[in-house]
Amino acid sequence: MIGVLADDPEHSVVIEFFELFKTPWEFYRSDFHYDVLVCSNTQVRNSSAKLVLVYGTEQKAFDREKGIERLSQCSNTVLSYKGDRIPVYGNCLTFQEARGHPLMHALTHESAVCEIASPGQTIVRVGYDLFHEIGYLLTRGQPLTHARIPTLELHIAVLRDLIIKSCSISLVEIPPIPSGYNFTVCLTHDVDHVGIRNHKCDHTMFGFLYRALIGSVINFGRGRKSLRQVAVNWMAAFSLPFVHLGLAKDFWNDVDRYLEIEKGLTSTFFFIPNKGEPGQDAGGRQPSRRAARYEISEIVPQVNHLLAERHEIGLHGINAWRDTAKGRAELESVRIVTGASEIGVRMHWLFFGEKSPATLDKAGFSYDSTLGYNETVGYRAGTTQAFRPLEVERMLELPMHVMDTALFYPSYLDLSPKQARAVVKPIVENAARFGGVLTVNWHDRSLAPERLWDDFYVGLIEDLKSRGAWFPTASQAVSWFRKRRSAVIESVIREGDSVRVKVSIDHTDSDLPGLRLRVHKPPARSNAGARQTKYHTNFVDIEFNNSAELKSEIGKLKSDL
Ligand SMILES: [Zn+2]
Repeated sequence: MIGVLADDPEHSVVIEFFELFKTPWEFYRSDFHYDVLVCSNTQVRNSSAKLVLVYGTEQKAFDREKGIERLSQCSNTVLSYKGDRIPVYGNCLTFQEARGHPLMHALTHESAVCEIASPGQTIVRVGYDLFHEIGYLLTRGQPLTHARIPTLELHIAVLRDLIIKSCSISLVEIPPIPSGYNFTVCLTHDVDHVGIRNHKCDHTMFGFLYRALIGSVINFGRGRKSLRQVAVNWMAAFSLPFVHLGLAKDFWNDVDRYLEIEKGLTSTFFFIPNKGEPGQDAGGRQPSRRAARYEISEIVPQVNHLLAERHEIGLHGINAWRDTAKGRAELESVRIVTGASEIGVRMHWLFFGEKSPATLDKAGFSYDSTLGYNETVGYRAGTTQAFRPLEVERMLELPMHVMDTALFYPSYLDLSPKQARAVVKPIVENAARFGGVLTVNWHDRSLAPERLWDDFYVGLIEDLKSRGAWFPTASQAVSWFRKRRSAVIESVIREGDSVRVKVSIDHTDSDLPGLRLRVHKPPARSNAGARQTKYHTNFVDIEFNNSAELKSEIGKLKSDL
């Protein structure tokens, strides 16, 4: 059991952090013995804990008492730990007498950790404020420069590693990995157009003609489009008058192509609530190009077709991000058509503000999936997990990680398919490494001329399938995270070579995959204090789907050293 001593303002961050690092913990009580005591920016209490972790960015009486000398102080820096880079957005101290610890400043190699071992207790002084960092990630989010780093997952990984390596306890946790799978993938589609027939002589139509006829040729010259794709785009451009006359198929209205590619999987389509409504941006302006030419009530047969194929319908919100009453009305436009009780949202153009989570929560959305970047791919909140934004009651945030337009738009990353595969590969590998969910957004018209981003999408899905991903709708994924949040590790009892763990789940959806209990085996005692260059990876998983008493034979695990 971990005891946490933190200032009151940090409590909400601490609670959410331990929903993501799902291991037994509680706020510190003076009358209880803890295996691990985490002190964050607070007075350090005398404790019988085997491991005392002291986080903070100021030198305190505790440091002077223990003879811990500061070497340097910086802010907005990057640490390295066992091959990973970890941005620290607040202050960060490095320490004298501590060279060689693997958690160090990435450039100077000065150690950000000072370890003091005495018989029966190890004190680890860490030079940054963990919960300030987590709060920053979950509220402000990462700048573009660090978008590719799953910083929050790395903070969990470092804490886990420090605990397992520094004190020989059998750490248990419920990782964000559904039983039977290696991680979760949410395939999602923002539906901005529905058809090119809705666009007569407007900027969208002329933009299409330019990109299909001229842009394609330029992209052929740059090796971004094949000759076949140029031909397909020219054919589409020349067919446009016939599309408008109703004599040729509307190539931008091809949801069935998604159903074909995603056969056997499920995905989520976000639809616009009101046509001709641009909404307002953060400055109160109404960007006319943001207005869509269709609304969900006009395409009920298409919606029903998707629902019949077990796909999910969500809201592609216009004003919901800034106005609760408008959010309720937008949500209702989806509910009227689908009858669903739990409805999620992603804002059109990813409009979002600091107050958006609370605004959307009050409007009644089950989840939001706006948190990502227009300009790049990666982890705005530093996490692969659905989380509850700090100021909301119920709604979860399902972060968006990979968006087609960010990869391929000339004004964003402007990648060739090969370059895009190289950029997305580490993101897929992170999903396999940390678990959690990888959320992909492929727009409704991205398979069609002139984009023709279908080969990349098909290849990505094949790769994700081969890595053992679970492909639920966004709503199902969020439900699974709620199920995990409802789980409680009630007791952990070590008995010789085994560990008995009592777990409970307060969730009734039996269609969802179960959870897994992960029991880490501590390293051999003789090596516990040794410097390691790799993360601890010696554990057993036990899958469970109900409240139960689980037993793990950790004595039978091979040694990790
Ligand atoms: Zn949109």
